[in-house]
Amino acid sequence: GQCIMVCPTGALHEQNDSQKVWDALADESKHVVIQTAPSIRVTIGEMFGMEIGSLVTGQLVTALRRIGFDKVFDDCFGADVVVMEESYELMERLESGKDLPQFTSCCPGWVKFCETYYPSMIDNLSSCKSPQQVFGALTKSYYAERAGIDPEDIFCVSTMPCVAKKYESQRPEMDSSGFRDVDAVLTTRELGEMIKQVGLDITNLPEEEYDNPMGYATGAGVIFGSTGGVMEAALRTAYEKITGERLKDFKLESVRSDDFREAEIDLKDGKSLKVAVARGTSNARKLIHKIMSGEADYDFVEVMACPAGGCVGGGGQPIYSGRDKWMRMFSDRVKRAEGLFKADEEKEHRVAHENPYIKQLYDEYLGEPHSERSQRLLHTPYVDRQMYTRDERYSVKKNEKMKV
Ligand code: SF4
Repeated sequence: GQCIMVCPTGALHEQNDSQKVWDALADESKHVVIQTAPSIRVTIGEMFGMEIGSLVTGQLVTALRRIGFDKVFDDCFGADVVVMEESYELMERLESGKDLPQFTSCCPGWVKFCETYYPSMIDNLSSCKSPQQVFGALTKSYYAERAGIDPEDIFCVSTMPCVAKKYESQRPEMDSSGFRDVDAVLTTRELGEMIKQVGLDITNLPEEEYDNPMGYATGAGVIFGSTGGVMEAALRTAYEKITGERLKDFKLESVRSDDFREAEIDLKDGKSLKVAVARGTSNARKLIHKIMSGEADYDFVEVMACPAGGCVGGGGQPIYSGRDKWMRMFSDRVKRAEGLFKADEEKEHRVAHENPYIKQLYDEYLGEPHSERSQRLLHTPYVDRQMYTRDERYSVKKNEKMKV
């Protein structure tokens, strides 16, 4: 409990939710739905002795179905919805010139860090919830309505690479459908243990497909699991909407790796889009100070709290001990990220707005991105958690000159 109060990223929110999920699965009155985060498909195989970065999407779906989940959905669908909402929001901000740069908001560690140390920048955070919460809100509204199930009877589980996602799911505001978006969050390690407990081995399971309507995602949704991926996914859609052309440099190598990257994208109308990606909170801090001091004028900034590769190196992923621990930590994350980008390349659709199920969701239920219903279900306010410390630099206001 104390950790939740003091951890600026929520990453100390360690608690094991497996029993809660076993109880829900045993309760016949519950319709238990699970969403799998992008990076789980390239990391869970490691828990069964497979090579690092092995892509086991189909085997993972089979394992979850055999454990007894009523529907196995893909959190990447939620990521595709986030791309729609976030790219629309970016276009609105570019037009009005207000609250730029837009910060991505899918990493709860980064969101809480920003709320705690830089509350004067919270209007710059995209108001869109993270894929996990977007997915949960749609499960208890859109899916419940389509399937004719009382949302009260739905138990929504997510499996995440991340310990801070447990904290995020419990934020009081994450219930705008009238029901808690997500009821339990399992880390990769907890899920791996559950699969082992029922005697299944990922390595020798057949491959099955996700359920629909929330199981089909584009490559854009899949690459959310790596740093630079969230930015790239949103840019694919924003660029096409602004210029009418497909983003040629599809892989945007210039923003995909290293600790801090920036790029300028020509929008073909005399304007350009300046983007930056930071991983790890120390790099985020440097980047914010550059923005506050006026040294940098970015339009769109992605921050992921985990220093090595974003979610592929998240606190809930398989971990190693021993002498070569640090060497492995870095090399493994590169391999896991490669696995995700390979999954992206194999996808039939690679831009979120071409996902037929996303089109259907907007046509039949949400209307437009940022519609009244989207705003209510998929967007969220943030909280000023200003933490005063002896170090005065944490309490500076936006645009104040400062020394980094
Ligand atoms: Fe969680 Fe780390 Fe991913 Fe942020 S970067 S969502 S803290 S795993």
